[in-house]
Amino acid sequence: MRMLLSALALCQLSLGYAQTMDEEFAKTVKEWTTKPEFLSPLVDHLPKVPGVPSPKDVLGYYAGAPKKLTYYSDLVRYYRALAAKSPRVKVIDIGKTDEGRECVVVFVGSEDSIRNLETYRQYLGQLADPRKLSEAEASAIIGKAKPIYHVMGGLHSAETGPPEMLMELVYRLATEDSPLIRTIRDNVIVSVTPAAEPDGRDRYVDWYYKYKINETGENDSMGAPPYWGKYIYHDNNRDINYSQMSSQRLLTWYLNWHPPIMHELHESEPFMYTFSGQDPQNPTLDPILYGELPWFSNFEMEQMTKYGMPGVWTHAFVDMWSPGYLGFMSSNHNGMLRMYEIFGNGGANTMHRKINGPDGGGRGGAGGGRGGGMTSRQWYRPLPPYAEVDWSMRNNTNYSETGVLSALQLTAAFPQIILENFYKKSRNSIEAGKTEALHGYVIPMGPDQTRVAFVVNTLRMQGIEVGRAKSDVKLADGTFPAGSFIVKRDQPYGRLAKILLEKQNFPDPALTTYDDTGWTMGLMTHTKVVEIMDKAVLDVAVDPVDKFEVHGTVASGPAAGGYAVIENGSNNLVTLRYRLKDVAARAVEQPFKSGDQDIPAGSLIFPANSYDKLKAAVEPLGLKAVALSAAPTVPMHDVDLPRLAIFSTWGSTQEVGWVRYAFDKFEVPYDLIYKERIKQGNLRGSYDVILIPNQGRGSKGLVYDIESKGKPLEYKKSDQFKTLGDYGQSDDITGGMGLEGVVELQKFVENGGLMITLGTASSFPADFGITRKVEASRTSAAFYAPGPIVQAEITRPVHPIFYGYTEKTIPVRWANGPLLTVPAADRESQVLMRFPGGDQGVLSGLMRGANEIRTRPAILDVPVGQGRVLLFATNPIYRWQNFGEFNMIFNAVMHFNDLKTK
Ligand SMILES: [Zn+2]
Repeated sequence: MRMLLSALALCQLSLGYAQTMDEEFAKTVKEWTTKPEFLSPLVDHLPKVPGVPSPKDVLGYYAGAPKKLTYYSDLVRYYRALAAKSPRVKVIDIGKTDEGRECVVVFVGSEDSIRNLETYRQYLGQLADPRKLSEAEASAIIGKAKPIYHVMGGLHSAETGPPEMLMELVYRLATEDSPLIRTIRDNVIVSVTPAAEPDGRDRYVDWYYKYKINETGENDSMGAPPYWGKYIYHDNNRDINYSQMSSQRLLTWYLNWHPPIMHELHESEPFMYTFSGQDPQNPTLDPILYGELPWFSNFEMEQMTKYGMPGVWTHAFVDMWSPGYLGFMSSNHNGMLRMYEIFGNGGANTMHRKINGPDGGGRGGAGGGRGGGMTSRQWYRPLPPYAEVDWSMRNNTNYSETGVLSALQLTAAFPQIILENFYKKSRNSIEAGKTEALHGYVIPMGPDQTRVAFVVNTLRMQGIEVGRAKSDVKLADGTFPAGSFIVKRDQPYGRLAKILLEKQNFPDPALTTYDDTGWTMGLMTHTKVVEIMDKAVLDVAVDPVDKFEVHGTVASGPAAGGYAVIENGSNNLVTLRYRLKDVAARAVEQPFKSGDQDIPAGSLIFPANSYDKLKAAVEPLGLKAVALSAAPTVPMHDVDLPRLAIFSTWGSTQEVGWVRYAFDKFEVPYDLIYKERIKQGNLRGSYDVILIPNQGRGSKGLVYDIESKGKPLEYKKSDQFKTLGDYGQSDDITGGMGLEGVVELQKFVENGGLMITLGTASSFPADFGITRKVEASRTSAAFYAPGPIVQAEITRPVHPIFYGYTEKTIPVRWANGPLLTVPAADRESQVLMRFPGGDQGVLSGLMRGANEIRTRPAILDVPVGQGRVLLFATNPIYRWQNFGEFNMIFNAVMHFNDLKTK
């Protein structure tokens, strides 16, 4: 008899359990796995349980099947079908995406865990805020609580494997009776985001079925569709202020459930990289975290290496500096962000792949990369990936599932350690606020309440407690009026408040980093945020703020001269103008006084009979309108609104997406145009302003865009592919506007149009001769500046784009735009802003080689024919972050035909 037992059955017996297995699964998965060592004993089998549907029972195929990608609604359909039949699975709804898809979280655990989910949720909530707990009470809770381990796939839509794998993982956790899975099920509650970018998942799956399903290798790859989500691509993992709907949904869920671990599953590196939080590390986070991260990644590397799986490594890729990655919400709130990069083919096709890239250290990762490439053995890569491999979707599934199961194994072995660490980090955050100087922040109410509201509400969204001082505050650091906002550091998320508000001191200019080095919120938003070293701030009496709602005012009284809406730097002024677009308005070009009231340049003058409309618009926007006893005598111009277009390439829509998002939020209407419209010509007949956001890699990329592969690549709606063609349609997205497009843009400007270029796009008018005398060059190879915040000096303060800016020197985000040069004779008239440069000009983050930007123009206003080009070497609308710069663009829109200032 024993001779007849299959190896699989023996294996099960040796693990001490017997369960009916899906024999076809074992056979099929073995076939799909391209080498025996790419499979592990954790995932080479799958139980068959009568009445409990596996992914194949619902979808018709196993996870990791060749040429199968699952649409988002089918992912959710599977989880709901499973939950309907298993008392170990539960699906909850957490709201909708931008395009109206439902966001869900799937829980899987023992029947006890799922039945008492609410109780376990409350335990974690208590540990997350230990202020009300004694040590003994905390220990008691840790003794009976269970960690929630949250796993997310599909944040990046081209990374297609994990959403497939997660279905199998949840099924396995719900059904398998092996000792390992039982222990996980009993000791850990696993929660899953099936696809963190649901809209992008469907668009990518459509694109895959339309174009990529017949791909055979890296060289015939058709890339990705022009859009994933509604606005952005990879930056859904850089959305530090949680602007996008799906990020907000997840954050809200997180703050309700407090999973101590959040684990993002990405795809890129061969064969699997597991994040260990290498340097540069954010020093404000709890040091315990830096012990936990390599603890997990080393365990996974060791386990998978033991199973014979090559290419599992750690350390030398992503660092721990920027807190803006999506799952970082966990580390930011005293939990632990975990992350994998799994090898993937951008779809479900098996491909021959060559692994000849540089060591992971070369792609933003820092120390550890010693050359030798990805396939070299290193201390952090004991069994390197192969130099060439046939790689299948099922390989990807095997790696990610084995990795996650190993992580869950560790968690299940030490659930109380995980909980204790979570508790301890929360406790430490509170204590650090009491014992370490920098005890808090004060955000005084400035003339513009809307930017204060942005800061306060962004902190509040992340669970940070903010109060309003009940009376005047006298501290060693200064005196602040009653009503000032107070952020005390002795709170569970006090560390996060510090991370977001402090100046980023990059620890070592020799280190590189994966994303931005600076994000200081006060500098980005041009909002006064005062660091408080005086411990007395902790005792200031405050009223807690839930959300700070702005309230504007319109002064009543005689208004023979109309009303002036004060230009105080609020981005909402442009919204007001558009909400009242049918009311004639004028802008004052110079400041004046009306009674005691200073009326700054750029303030909008509305007629006396517009009181009702003005009141309805001004109050919710948080603006201030005053009545004028007499009409202003300073020069004014009409504030008429332009016919506005935003130009996007097809190949690089993301940075355009951030600009679209800002324009949508501030209610500035525009046409989104592509090369198709540019090439039609007569742009001046349709538009007054064409805005070309930062996109692609310089001017050639902007003009020639996606290289043609010889046949048209259409992006259009059809009955079969409903999500393609969203946000613009094209018969062929390749080829770019070409030189004929350049000619049309030149004609547009010469015929009186205003062209605005941002960031890298500002090399375009220089390189292609639209602004003939402007030169654009690049910084040297030694220069390195990943998103620091630097000083910029306004050299022409009377220019309308600076209405509302009161300081001569302001903080701007460095955008890696071109180094611009204009002839000396034009400097005075055309340079509106410049970079003082030098190390002292770096306000937050890292700029290596800061002398290279010394006195370089930051913004140019160049007349061309009857029109003009505004070139920004900065990127004034960046990732919903640099609110303080947005108004330069909104001002350019409102005053588009009045920019000429002698
Ligand atoms: Zn990714």
